[in-house]
Amino acid sequence: MSPRFLVPTPFSGGLILSYQCSCECKHCMYFGTPAWKDGWIKEKNLREILSLLSKVIKPSPLGKDRVSLNHGLHFTGGEPFLNYKILLKSIEIASELEIPSLFVETNCYWCKNDKITEKRLLELKNKGLQGILISVNPFILEHVPFERIERAIKISNQLFEDNLMIYQLYYYVQFKNMKIKGILNFDDYLKLVKIEEVKRRVELFKMGRAAHELSFLYERFPLKVFLNENCKMELVRNWHCHFDLHGNYMPGYCGGFSWGDVRNLDLLSKKGIELEKYPIFNALINGKLKDLHELAVKNFNYQELRTGYVSKCHACFDIRKHLALKTNVYKELQPREFYFHS
Ligand code: SF4
Ligand code: SF4
Repeated sequence: MSPRFLVPTPFSGGLILSYQCSCECKHCMYFGTPAWKDGWIKEKNLREILSLLSKVIKPSPLGKDRVSLNHGLHFTGGEPFLNYKILLKSIEIASELEIPSLFVETNCYWCKNDKITEKRLLELKNKGLQGILISVNPFILEHVPFERIERAIKISNQLFEDNLMIYQLYYYVQFKNMKIKGILNFDDYLKLVKIEEVKRRVELFKMGRAAHELSFLYERFPLKVFLNENCKMELVRNWHCHFDLHGNYMPGYCGGFSWGDVRNLDLLSKKGIELEKYPIFNALINGKLKDLHELAVKNFNYQELRTGYVSKCHACFDIRKHLALKTNVYKELQPREFYFHS
């Protein structure tokens, strides 16, 4: 029998209640869009997943009532406020189960006036929500008027105080200084800023939709530049992992990948899995990107993009997408719909 690989036990992460979103941002790692078809988490799944997570999620070093990006549990999507009822239920159950450092992530599309914003945030807080992460960036600004983001920040600051996180603060300050009103097209944003400076100062993951939609901002390289890359560090990390509405346990930010059902975590982490039965994980953990590439060329005639790749994640995703559209034999490529929105 081949040696077994013990799947890491996560101590923090985000629960994707749905991949559906009000926006379709150019940088989205999870291809959020209004067009996702697979709906919202079912209450039965929600209870089972949260019950399992309550055994492993660790609080922020600042305390169980404080939040931080890489501790505790957050509710995300997609856009979780698109289904407020489910979001409310999620907080209620997580709070009953005493999961620490709970926060929600939002693009603020729904903050149309003070009344609704305050009502919902207060209700969530009373159900046990401890904090909020407000996304601010020029990609969301293409879809969400800045006034709504400002409103959410103002009210969250009153309700959650130190448990308000603005991601990314650089953009918030920049938009305030630019006196932005309404939405702003990304092409117009580029005319107003020094993009090289923005790229130097702000983190942007060149994966997911960003690898295609924003590739014009970055140099492209032939595949051979990335073939010696290995992803053990990214795949076996146990912090800020993601879990989706189906129970898929996703390593870190690597969308479209699943270790299996997080409800089987005990089995996955104590008994382990035979990595040989997960050839894509095996290639990226025990080998290099070139092993994944060889597998795709040999079995499914993958052809290198003539236009090149902006990052190893771009190459990895393009190969995985090719495989996912040709076959369903690779059980680590989940959810399947992920590969149809790219
Ligand atoms: S708001 Fe967030 S989840 Fe929605 S498309 Fe934008 S980045 Fe993706
Ligand atoms: S190359 Fe693939 S496995 Fe590695 S970090 Fe990027 S998306 Fe994840």
